Formats: sequence, structure tokens, C-alpha cells
Amino acid sequence: MGVLSLDLEAKLSQNYQILEFFNLVFSKDKLVNAYLFVGENSYQDKMDLFVSINKTLNCVHNQGHLSSEFKQPCGICDSCTWIQNNEHPKTPLVLEREEGAKTVKVSQVHKLQEELSQSSPYYRLILIPEADFEVFSKHPANALLKSIEEAYPRTMFILFARAKETVLTTIRSRTQVLYFQDEPQVDSVEVSDKIFEVYEKYKAHNDFSSQIKNKLFVDEILKMDKAELIKFLDYLVEQIELSAHNVKFIESLERAKRYLEAYVNPRAALSSVAFY
Ligand SMILES: [Zn+2]
Repeated sequence: MGVLSLDLEAKLSQNYQILEFFNLVFSKDKLVNAYLFVGENSYQDKMDLFVSINKTLNCVHNQGHLSSEFKQPCGICDSCTWIQNNEHPKTPLVLEREEGAKTVKVSQVHKLQEELSQSSPYYRLILIPEADFEVFSKHPANALLKSIEEAYPRTMFILFARAKETVLTTIRSRTQVLYFQDEPQVDSVEVSDKIFEVYEKYKAHNDFSSQIKNKLFVDEILKMDKAELIKFLDYLVEQIELSAHNVKFIESLERAKRYLEAYVNPRAALSSVAFY
């Protein structure tokens, strides 16, 4: 078991090997001071990992230890809570373009350097969320080189970029590059107005006994064509909270959907679903 949060295992299923890499680096006390996270559609994974590293480095239970002695962050101390809520006063320091600007400015780099020159009881992470050359261009990059090269102790730079090639060589060569796989794209059910309307009716049917309500409702939804009906069942599954109480209902919806896809007559397909 490593030192990064346990829930990351599930979150980073696609990028699990990077999580393992960091756990190994922590256990061998081999952290370097600059990492470049590259990958096109993987912002959430990068961010989840970033937050977890920040918590591990700053949890009160790890203060004053070597990274090889780090424990998983407790999740409840001030540092852990602040970082989780993105309210920590000292970490991360974010170097990003200002609103409306196309690039990071040299003056922002200088401001960061001034902040870094002051001592801090915290392990400071510097996040550059768009390290691609269009945003983190030559001048700000050059201004920052020395800070990366001769970083203060207990300071770590983490840069996000689309690809290794979109980062200036001068910057890239001073970092360790980690390649993120794309996160799986969730296809959210597209909901037509009609499906939404039927769902609202479903929720509103309270003044009938359950059997009658069920019959009325089945009659209502059978007016939809098959494709729409399948979408509606998907939508319903999405809307229903997964609890032990609802498992049977969700299973019956999934079964009805499979029947519909297998060209079973819609009324027969829905016969085992109790919409109440
Ligand atoms: Zn903690």
C-alpha cells in the first residue's frame, strides 16, 4: 500500500501505473523537484493526483519526516482539509495566465519567485496548469528556469501539458515526464424534452394507488418509440440513487432495456418493472 490516498486507485484506473510510480518514489525517498504531466484528455486525473501529492506532502502527520517515512494523509488535519477544499494559504502556488490574457506574464513569474524566497513551514507545490508553449511561452519560461533548476528545499513544480512536444525544450529537459492516458469519456444520456416531461409526470404521480399509478404510467411511456423508451430507461437509471432499496428496481429497468434491444414487444418488456 502506498502513501497516496486510497480512493485514487478507483479514480485513476486508467492511469494506475502513475499512481504506483509515485508510491514507489515516495517509499524510496526519490522525489525530484519538477514533474511534467502530459496527456490530451486527462485533466481530472492529473488534478486528482496533484491534490493527493500535495496532501501527502503537507499532512501534519508527515511534517519533518523523510518522504520514505510518509504515511497516507489523514484527511482531517487543517492542511489536508484546506488542500482538499482548495483553501490552503500557501500551497499550491498557481502560475496561470490572468483572465483575458493569452500567456503567462514575466511579472507573474517574478511575483512567484518573491513568494518562494520567503520561508514557509509548508511543502510548497507550484502548479502550472497550462505549460504548453502557447501559454507558457519563451520569456516567462526563461525567467523560471533557474527557479526550477535550483529549487528551494521542500518545493516542487508540477506542470500540466497536452504533450511533451508542446512544452519548450528548456523547460521539459528540467522535468521528469509522466504520460497520462485519456480518461474514458462518459456518454451522458441525452434527454429529449419529451423524456424529461414523462419523467416529471412519473415523479408527480402520487395521488393514485401504486398499481393504478403503474398502469397509467406504463400506458404513458408506451407512447414513446422504442429508441426513446430505451433512452428513458437509461435516464431513469441515472436519476435513481443507487441504494440497496433501489437495486431491484434498477435491475428490472436494465432487464427491460435488454428485452427492448432484443426486440421483445415493449409492453411485455416492461411487464416486470414496477414503477412505484
Ligand atoms: Zn492530514
